[in-house]
Amino acid sequence: MPLYDLTRPLSPRTAVYPGDTPVSITPTSQLRNGDMCNVSSIAMSVHAGTHIDAPSHYSDDAPGVDALDLSVLTGPVCVVTLPASPAIDIAALSHIANLSGKGLLVHTRGSDTPDDVFDPGYVCFTAAAAEWLGSQGARLVGIDTPSVDPADSTNLSAHLAFLRYGIIIVENLCLRGVPDGDYRLMALPLKIVNCDAAPARVLLES
Ligand SMILES: [Zn+2]
Repeated sequence: MPLYDLTRPLSPRTAVYPGDTPVSITPTSQLRNGDMCNVSSIAMSVHAGTHIDAPSHYSDDAPGVDALDLSVLTGPVCVVTLPASPAIDIAALSHIANLSGKGLLVHTRGSDTPDDVFDPGYVCFTAAAAEWLGSQGARLVGIDTPSVDPADSTNLSAHLAFLRYGIIIVENLCLRGVPDGDYRLMALPLKIVNCDAAPARVLLES
């Protein structure tokens, strides 16, 4: 059965949200220097590359990424390609049936953005579309762009609507070459205690 890897590679070339800490990988022990083994340390924003947001990203008293529901992160999802548009609105989603208890991964032109490019005009969601997905019973939303809100958002209204419905947000996927349809998701964020997000390896199994 096909297995799709939706994870963007992490390297110093990985594009990060403006102002976020870029990825750096520093050797702290090296065979070539006579050390016993190679060991590296990393520094990066936890929102670099493919990652999962935690409720504590938008609210101080909310749970961290270590508390997310693993049954949702390993549950059923559908992949839907949506035409390019600055923001995904309710009309763009209304043809999608039966989202109750499932996740939705939206495939936009963001999947064609190279890993080392930040596109400030990336596709995102309107707050009304986020509310609508909540009202349909969706459990998780994934997108192939850096955020579910626009780059110039001042109130993160889509993030907050998803939070109200307990919908888990996965960002910076790459869905290039993945046919639309139903899959099982495997999206496992690093278990970083109380953190506002964590990088994840994200796979789909059909
Ligand atoms: Zn994020």
